[in-house]
Amino acid sequence: MILDNDTVALLADHLKRSTALDSYQSGAEPPEHETAYAVAEISQSALRIVTDIMPRLTKKSDQEGYWNAIEDFREEIRHISFHIRASRYLAVVLDTVTE
Ligand SMILES: [Zn+2]
Repeated sequence: MILDNDTVALLADHLKRSTALDSYQSGAEPPEHETAYAVAEISQSALRIVTDIMPRLTKKSDQEGYWNAIEDFREEIRHISFHIRASRYLAVVLDTVTE
């Protein structure tokens, strides 16, 4: 299970040992908790995409089944995007300009 409290606490403990989050200490929530929760939530969505949605997208199905899977995919991407923005540490990737 990715989203249980023990896993999030373990992630936060690892993150706290680094200085990488030191510049994000000014918020209401400690950055290691904010980021650990985001990593767990994003991982849960990634797991769902790989284990549930991709198999549905790649099997022969009717149009309704296909579009249900695409809508589920879009929802997981929305969820991932939300949690990237919710972590000040992870949100920096959104400022990256790519071509
Ligand atoms: Zn969430």
